[in-house]
Formats: sequence, structure tokens, C-alpha cells
Amino acid sequence: MSKTKQKNFKAPKGMRDILPEEQIYWEKFLKVAQRLAEDYGWQKIETPILEDVELFIRGTGQTTDIVTKQMYMLKTSGGTRLALRPEQTPGVMRAYLENGMNNLPHPVKLYYFGPMFRHEQPQAGRYRQLYQFGTETIGESAAVLDAQVIQFCFHLFRSLGLKKINTHINSMGCPQCRPAYRRALVDYFRRQKNKLCPDCQKRLKENPFRLLDCKEEKCQPVKTQAPAMLDYLCEQCHRHFKEVLELLDELEIPYFLNSALVRGLDYYTKTVFEFFLEEETQGARMALGGGGRYDNLMKELGGKPTPAVGMALGVDRIVAAMKKEGVKVSPIYNPKIFLVQLGDMGKRKSLKLFEMLHQAGIVTAESFSRDSIKTQLKIADRLGVKYSLILGQQEALDNTIIIRDMQSGVQETVPQEKIIDQIKKRLIKK
Ligand code: AMP
Repeated sequence: MSKTKQKNFKAPKGMRDILPEEQIYWEKFLKVAQRLAEDYGWQKIETPILEDVELFIRGTGQTTDIVTKQMYMLKTSGGTRLALRPEQTPGVMRAYLENGMNNLPHPVKLYYFGPMFRHEQPQAGRYRQLYQFGTETIGESAAVLDAQVIQFCFHLFRSLGLKKINTHINSMGCPQCRPAYRRALVDYFRRQKNKLCPDCQKRLKENPFRLLDCKEEKCQPVKTQAPAMLDYLCEQCHRHFKEVLELLDELEIPYFLNSALVRGLDYYTKTVFEFFLEEETQGARMALGGGGRYDNLMKELGGKPTPAVGMALGVDRIVAAMKKEGVKVSPIYNPKIFLVQLGDMGKRKSLKLFEMLHQAGIVTAESFSRDSIKTQLKIADRLGVKYSLILGQQEALDNTIIIRDMQSGVQETVPQEKIIDQIKKRLIKK
């Protein structure tokens, strides 16, 4: 025996187990989201969890928090530098290029679901392994596609039973109009530099748009007076944004114009949007997801200029909101009958019968490791099944089986070969 003290293993900080009782919410989210996404014409894609580090540096952006501070990186024994994906958009764009999807009819519409990894300080609704469900619409620049992504999210939240969600929207302009706005922002904030938090003073040099995103109390009064991108949009960006808003009006989707909404990533152009829970969590607004247009990302990754629009939803937070709102979910496991077995022969035959019932589409519960009939019937009671089937030594020899009505306690013996028909008939009647 080793003398070393046993270690109590724990999940890594900021990462967690999602236990069976929570899975019903995840299942519901996924079922509704996938069905709706497919109905809207997005098709599922999976990409690797690990990608070349450079993909995120070039794609997500060199000055973004998720690349500079939050990326988990590793070096393979061959010396390749890989990162656990902090987001999936660059991976999907790489897959589009690598698999020649540019030859497909456009727009190419893809959706994904999976874990992302960000080395952030864990807090309410913030994990280091988080799950996102996202869509990408690649190859078209029409404003109607921006509106469609927002329409999808709006209907998804509704279908999940989440009503108290606000949509915020803004435009980040394009490489033609953004430089003038950037200058105006830098001029404005430079004049107020000593009123800014240390992080914002740094952002002023590297990524002045992120100043608008700052949550520090100290920066709030300065932010409210800052110039707005909407006043600097070029003709084309202005027209595009106006069209998106008109379409949302047409769809009767309410929204807030939010000139401080910049999103954290470098690649956005034109429309950006974010969804917030109406009710604050621990004094802060909780974002359930967001996205926008990124017309220059594909070129950044080595492809031909290809416009695209997409979004990512935070599934951990959506599930938490569903639980808080008391959204109804049906259990994944919902057995209709219970199979009680007694004695060696009864047990042996029960395993086979269980498979037959399963093949006939009758979800059957069992407790094969128990021997006592009393214990097994107690479990059946607890599960709330309508009928139990009892297969003992005698029934195994006679090729019969007992059907017990759990409510009345009435029992009837029937031939085993008729059991499927008999059960189906009774379940339909109930
Ligand atoms: P982003 O594209 O970074 O805005 O992420 C999209 C959504 O993912 C956010 O609105 C959140 O709902 C969710 N999300 C982002 N980071 C985390 C995290 N660390 N933990 C849980 N959810 C997150």
C-alpha cells in the first residue's frame, strides 16, 4: 500500500459537470435550437476543439481579451502551437476555405454547438469551459441576412419560453468610415484621460472602441458623452443599417439602439447586436449572446473577400435563465411500464424481453440487480408507471407473463408472445 495521501480530485477551476438533472434543460435547448436552425436553412458543422493559434490571432484579433488574456495554448511534441478554441467563428471560416465551400451556392449557412475555452475569472454565468450555439451565413452582404439572424434568435428565445430579453443593436461601420470615428473617439477620450481606469488608458492606444465596453464605474460618466459611430457612418453603411432596422420593425422585433455596443472582437463590420436578460444579475447586465457582420474576416484568413454574418449564444446562461423562469421541460427518461423479474430463469428471460419491448418502442424500466418482488414494485410505484410486468420462475416455464395494473392492483396472466400487443392496447386506452 502506498503511504501517499489520496488526492481528492476536483473539476478544474471554472469548469463543471453538467449532471443528469440539468441535462433535460440542455436537451430542450438543443432540440428547439437545432430544429429552428434547420428550418431556417442552417446546416450543422463540427470543427476541431483545437486549432492553430495563429487562426485566432488573425481571426479573432490580436488586441482582443480572449486572444491576449484568455486563450489556453499548448505545444505538441512536434512543436505545433495549438489553442483550445475560445470561439468557433474562425474555425468555421477555416473549414469553409479548406473544404472548398466557396464553390457551393451562396449564402452558405452553417450552425454549430460545442464547448469553448476562455481563461477568465470565474463568476456568476462565467465559466472557463462554456458552451455556445452559433450560426454563420457566409457569402452575401444583404441586410436582410443580418435581420434574419436576429429574427432567429428572437424566435428561439420565445420558443424556449424566455420573454424578458432585450435586443441591443449598433453599427461598427466599415474600413472606409471607421477610421474617422476612431480618431474622434481617441481625441475625445485623450482629453479625459485622467478620468479613465488604467485598463481604458491602455485601450486608448490599442483598441479605443473597447473603451465604450468598459464596465468600471469610474469610466461611465466619460462614456456617456462619447461620440457615436452612427454619426460617422458612410453612405453605404448608413443605408445598410437603416435597412436592418426597417426589417426588424417589419418583423415587430423590439430593439434598443446602443451606441456603446462594440462587441469584444476585432472583426466586426456594420451591424453588431447583443441580447441581454432584462433583469440584472448581481447588479450587472447578463448577455445571453450576440453577433454581427464580419465582411473582412475571410480575407484576413487568406480567402477571397467574402461577406458574412453570424452570432453565438451562451448556452450555459440560457439554460440558467430557463431554470430561473421555470420553463417546463419533459423528462428525457419516461418509462411506461416496469419489468419485474424473479428467480434465475425469470431474470434471464427478462433481459431478452426488455430488448423486445424496446424494439417495439415501449420504454421499459427495470431493476435487474434486485431480487425481491416487493422492492421492485416499490420502484415501479415511484416511477409512476401504469403497468408492471412480472416474470417469475413459473411464468418462465409456462411462457406466460403477469400484467399488473399499478393503480388497481388487478393482475392478469397472458402468453408471452402476446405481451407487446396487450401492452400497446392498454397504453392506447389509458
Ligand atoms: P461573445 O461572442 O464573446 O459575446 O460570446 C457570446 C455569448 O457566449 C455571450 O453573450 C455569453 O452568453 C456567452 N459567454 C461568453 N463568455 C462566457 C463565459 N466565460 N462563460 C459563460 N458564457 C459565456
